Amino acid sequence: MKAKEVLDNLKRRFPNEPEYHQAVSEVLGTIEDVYNEHPEFEKSNLIERLCIPDRIFSFRVTWVDDKGQVQTNMGYRVQHNNAIGPYKGGVRFHASVNLSILKFLAFEQTFKNSLTTLPMGGAKGGSDFSPRGKSNAEIMRFCQAFVTELWRHIGPDTDVPAGDIGVGGREVGYMYGMYKKLARENTGTFTGKGIEFGGSLIRPEATGYGNVYFLLQMLKTKGIDIKDKVVTVSGAGNVAQYTVEKLISLGAKVVTMSDSDGYIYDPDGIDREKLDYIMELKNLYRGRIREYAEKYGVKYVPGARPWGEKCDIAMPSATQNELNGDDARTLLANGCFAVSEGANMPSTPEAIDEFLKAKILYAPGKAANAGGVSVSGLEMTQNAQKLSWSSEEVDQKLKDIMANIHAQCLKYGTQSDGYVNYVKGANVAGFMKVAKAMMAQGIL
Ligand code: NDP
Repeated sequence: MKAKEVLDNLKRRFPNEPEYHQAVSEVLGTIEDVYNEHPEFEKSNLIERLCIPDRIFSFRVTWVDDKGQVQTNMGYRVQHNNAIGPYKGGVRFHASVNLSILKFLAFEQTFKNSLTTLPMGGAKGGSDFSPRGKSNAEIMRFCQAFVTELWRHIGPDTDVPAGDIGVGGREVGYMYGMYKKLARENTGTFTGKGIEFGGSLIRPEATGYGNVYFLLQMLKTKGIDIKDKVVTVSGAGNVAQYTVEKLISLGAKVVTMSDSDGYIYDPDGIDREKLDYIMELKNLYRGRIREYAEKYGVKYVPGARPWGEKCDIAMPSATQNELNGDDARTLLANGCFAVSEGANMPSTPEAIDEFLKAKILYAPGKAANAGGVSVSGLEMTQNAQKLSWSSEEVDQKLKDIMANIHAQCLKYGTQSDGYVNYVKGANVAGFMKVAKAMMAQGIL
C-alpha cells in the first residue's frame, strides 16, 4: 500500500470532502509501514474497505417552527465499520454539518472505539440544524422529526447513537423518547440518556475527565505535576466544562474558555464558583461566553481563539481545525509543553507537525477524548444487565481505560530516541485491532 496513492484515489472518488481526506491522510501516513508488513492485508484490499464507510443514510428532516413555518434540514448517519462491535458514535447538530465532516468523524470514531478496549464499531450522524436561538419546543420537534427517519437504522445491537456538538442530555432524551415510541423496545439504544431512564453516572463528565486523566498519564512520563500549571481551554460546552472542572479539582489554573463568537481570558483562573456560572449560562440560559467577561470584569476577545495566551498546557475542546500552524508556533514560543485534545481533530496537519517536531507531549483526540465513548460503552453494558453502577465504579473504570489507551500509545508510538509519538501510537494500535477483526471475518 502506498498511502499517497490510496489517498489520491479517495480524493478522486469522493471530491469536495476535505475533512474526510484530512482524517484519512493523518491515519494512512502513520500506519503505512505496519500495514505493509502484512501482505495479507494488501491482498484483501483491506485499506479501501477500512477507509470507505460501510453505508451512509441521508434523509430530509421536516419540522414546524414556533411561527408555524415548515422548515427542512438534512439528516445523516454514517455507519463506518462494525468489525469489532455494533456501530457507535455521536450525533451532531450544527449548521456546518455535511457529509465530509460526518465521514471524518465516523472514520476517527472507528479507531477511537477500537482503542477503548470495548466492543464497539464506528459511526457518526447529525444534521445541519442549528440549535442556536431555537426554543425548547422547536428542539423537541426537530429531534422527534430526526428520529422518525433514523429509528429504522439503529438498535441496541446494530447502531447506538449518542451526543456531540449541539446534542446533550436534553436532545438525547427527546430522541430516545421518540425512538422508543416507534421501535417499541426499551433496551437502551442511545447513550448519554438521563440518569432516571438508563443513563450512566459520569457519562456527562466522561470526555472532559477522561482527557485530563490522559493528560496526567502523559505528564507522569516526564515527572510533571499538574498543580499550578496554567491551562488554556477552548469551547464552553460539555467537553470543555468537565475538562475545566477536573483541572480545577487538581489545582491547575485554567485561564481561558471560548465559544464560536470569541474567548475570555481570566488571569486569576476560573474557579469552582465561576465555572458554576458558566455551566448555568451555557446549559440553562444558552448564553454567550462574552457574558462571563462582563460579570467578572475580565478580557473578552471577539472572533478569536485562545491560543495566543501564555500557557503550559493547551486543551482544545470546541471543534475541528480550531488550532492552526501559526497557533501551534505561538503556543510553543510561549512555552507550552503539552497539548491534549478534547475535540475531534482540532489541530490542523501543520499544527500537528509543529508539535511533533518540537517533541512536546501531544495527544490526538482519538486517544485523549475516548473517555466519552468509553463510558457510553459502559452505559450499554449496564443497560444490557439492567443494572446501574456507582459514580466511583464508573470513574475507576474510566481511569483504567484511559491508562490502558495511554499504554497502547506507548507500545506503538515510542520512537528509538524515546520520544512518544502519540499520533502514531494511537493510529497503529486502533488500526491493528480493527484490521485483525476484519481479516478474521472474511471479505465483506
Ligand atoms: P457542545 O455543543 O457541548 O459544545 C461545543 C462548544 O464548542 C461550544 O462552546 C461551541 O460554541 C463551540 N463550537 C462549536 N462549533 C464551533 C466552531 N465552528 N467554532 C468555534 N467554536 C465552536 O459540544 P461538545 O462539548 O460535546 O463537543 C466539543 C468537541 O468535543 C467536538 O469536537 C466533539 O466532536 C468532541 N467530542 C465530544 C464528545 C462528547 O462526549 N460530547 C466525545 C468526544 C469528542 P457555540 O456555543 O457558540 O456553538
